[in-house]
Formats: sequence, C-alpha cells, structure tokens
Amino acid sequence: MLWKLFLAACVSSVLQGTLCSTASLHRANDGGGRCLYTFTVPSPAEHSCPEPAAEQELSRQGALQRTEMEALQTRLGLLEALVSRLAGPGGAVGQDGGLEAAYSAAMREKTELQRERDRLEAERQELQSRVDRLGQENSRLRLGQCGFPETPLRDPDQRPPDSSSLDYSSPRFQEFKSEVTEVRAPTHSDSTGCGELVWLGEPESHRKADSISGKYGVWMQDPEPVPLYGPEMTWRLDAVGSAVRQLFGYEDLKQLSRGFPSKVLLLPESVESTGAVVYRGSLYYQRRKSRTLLRYDLRTESVAARRELPHAGFHGQYPYSWGGYTDIDLAVDETGLWAIYSTSKAKGAIVLSRLDPDSLEVLHSWETSVRKQSVANAFVICGTLYTVASYTMPNTTVNYSYSTESGHGRALSIPFLNRYRYNSMIDYNPARRQLFSWDNYHMVTYDVRLGTV
Ligand code: CA
Repeated sequence: MLWKLFLAACVSSVLQGTLCSTASLHRANDGGGRCLYTFTVPSPAEHSCPEPAAEQELSRQGALQRTEMEALQTRLGLLEALVSRLAGPGGAVGQDGGLEAAYSAAMREKTELQRERDRLEAERQELQSRVDRLGQENSRLRLGQCGFPETPLRDPDQRPPDSSSLDYSSPRFQEFKSEVTEVRAPTHSDSTGCGELVWLGEPESHRKADSISGKYGVWMQDPEPVPLYGPEMTWRLDAVGSAVRQLFGYEDLKQLSRGFPSKVLLLPESVESTGAVVYRGSLYYQRRKSRTLLRYDLRTESVAARRELPHAGFHGQYPYSWGGYTDIDLAVDETGLWAIYSTSKAKGAIVLSRLDPDSLEVLHSWETSVRKQSVANAFVICGTLYTVASYTMPNTTVNYSYSTESGHGRALSIPFLNRYRYNSMIDYNPARRQLFSWDNYHMVTYDVRLGTV
C-alpha cells in the first residue's frame, strides 16, 4: 500500500516536472510494534531552478559583464599599445632625458632673455631721461639766446648739468647742443636724388611674427620723424582680426627683431587692413568698414584729423588681388602723403591721390588704367606709382609704373621676390630708401636703386 502511495507520488512528481530520483523512502519502528514508512518529494515551489524572469535578468547581467569585459580588454589593448609606443625606440620615455635637457635649456634662455630685457629697459629709461633733460636744457638755452639772463655752468662731470645753470660758451654746452641736435633733428635728407626704380634687392627678414594675428600686417618707420620719436623708431600693426587697435613701437630694428616693444598704443578706432603709414609723427590709417581716414598723433596719442576719402571703395569693394580689405592703401614718398584706391567712377582702376598731411584733404587725383584687383600691391617713389604683379609667386615683378608728373603709365618688368609667398603689404620708405613689406609673418625690407631720370 505504502509502495503504491510512493509510486503515485513519483508519477505525480514526474507530471509536475520534477525528478523521481530526488524522492526518498524512510522506514522506522515507532516503538509500539508498528512499522513507520515516510517518503519525501521536493515541492516544485521550493525547487532551486530559476524563474524565467530571473533567467532573463541573469542573462542581461551576463551580457553586460561580457560587454564590460570586452571594453576593458579594448582599453587594455590600447594602453598596452601606448606603453609599447612610449617605451619603444624613439618613444617619449626614451627621450625623457632629451626633453628635460631641452626644457632646462629653454628655461635658461628665457631667464637670460628676461635679464637682457631688464637691462635694456633700464638703459632705455636712462637714455630717455637723459634726452628729456637735454630737451629741457635746449629750451632754456633758446630762451637764454633770446635775451634771458644766463648763468655759468657749474657741474663739469658726466651727468647733465642742473637746468638752473649753464655756460653757453663752454665746450660742455657745445657738446650738449650737438647731442640735442643729434637726438632731435629729423634725419630725412632724401629730398634730392629722385629717379625711376631700376632695381630691387632680395628681401631681408627682420622679424617673424609668432602668432596667427601676425600672418599679415603693416610695419614702418617714420621717414620724417618729429619728437618724441626718432628715425629708428619702428612701428608694427598685426592686421589679422576684426578689431585691430594695438600699435607696437620698438626703439629700433634690433628691438623689433628681439620682440621687445617699448611702446604699446591702443588706437581709439579699429584699423582696416594693411594700408597704414607713419609720417611726421602721426599714424595715418583707414578706419574699419569705412572710407574714413584718421590721423593719429603719436605724441599726444589722440586723433588729430579725420576725413572721408571721397568715393573711395572700402571693405572689399576694390582690394588688391590677395583681398584682405586692402581697398585703401596709404603711401609716403619724398614728396608727401598719398592714397591708392579706386572708385565706382573709375570702375575699379587704381586712383592715386595726393593728400594734405594735416587735414587729409585730397589735393590732386590721377586715374590709371590698371585694375586694382589685378595687382598684388603698390607703392610710390618720387611721385611715381609702382605695382607688383603677384603676392604669392616667388619670382614676380614690379610690372607697371605711373608718373604723376607726365600723367602716363607704362609696363615694367623689375624682378621682385616674394620669399615667403604671401605678401600682404609693400610700402616705400624714402628716408631709408627701402621697401618695407610683410610677407607671411615676416617683416622684410628690400633695398631700392633708382636711376637718373
Ligand atoms: Ca602699399
């Protein structure tokens, strides 16, 4: 009977999906002379098999683990490749010593440069104060020569004398006077010797701009300087960007090449393009997005004059071939201040106008037959306009001239070298008899030879 019950339980278990082999039978004496049979069958509810939902969850977690493992293996692989590359021949780890040495050398050089800069700055300040003292003495001397009481020189040592006492007849006074003259007098003396351009030297680079803002720009010296700045003072405007207002001044070319400006001026209005010039103590430039010309007095650091250039195209209407909003290009020569531009009336042909340096009024205009957009740049020497054919071709030419004296133009072929292949500015400096140019970060000069007319 009990066996039947056991077998029935087995069948029931099989039907419910469990295994008979997991059922068990126990026999025992109950102590009262009777046999006691018991059997045990696992209940489906208590079975340890996972529920379907749990199976899915485990499966999902497993997939996640596999994904994580694969990601880890990928990262590990990359890491190993990186370590291998760094540790391998030519890797950064291998060059560690070299990098350290280069870094140390750079730091030493930086320290030396800073020291040199400080020394030069101190020297400059000393020279400046000496110039100021001499200027004061000069003023006093002029007053004295006009009949003011004179007092004898008191201090014969190397320092400039106290301004309250000078002996005009002494050698010391003559020395001061000559020194004052040397410092103050403009050195421009090229009012004679004009001629036609016959030859240009190769470009000499004086400085390479060290950031993208200096890819193109304008730089110059004043051919007719007035105090406060001397003839060696070199000015620079990096022309990349929409708000070009910083004008850097360097004591001379050497300081420019070292990158140590002695003056930084913030112009009141932004500069358009690379057509600015410095002349007789003022910066002349085109105000951004306008045909307005400004004369900025470098001594008073303020705008001294402003005037529209009548009918002039601007902001991309009549630029040179390289673009860059070079619509209005100012120029200086032995005879004065010029504007090179075009108008709708001239239909894009180059118009050359002589300007009054004080008021910026147009004094006279000439219209050429050369399209402004067909040439790379232009400059004026001895009242004659010259154009350069290409701004990128290394071996290009000065290809055209227009004489304001005769009112005629003619074709030329004077070799011109664009060494750095992106020439954005060319101007003539009559005092140095050189072209100043900005060619792809490089501030360069070209020697100029003129022939007799
Ligand atoms: Ca020019």
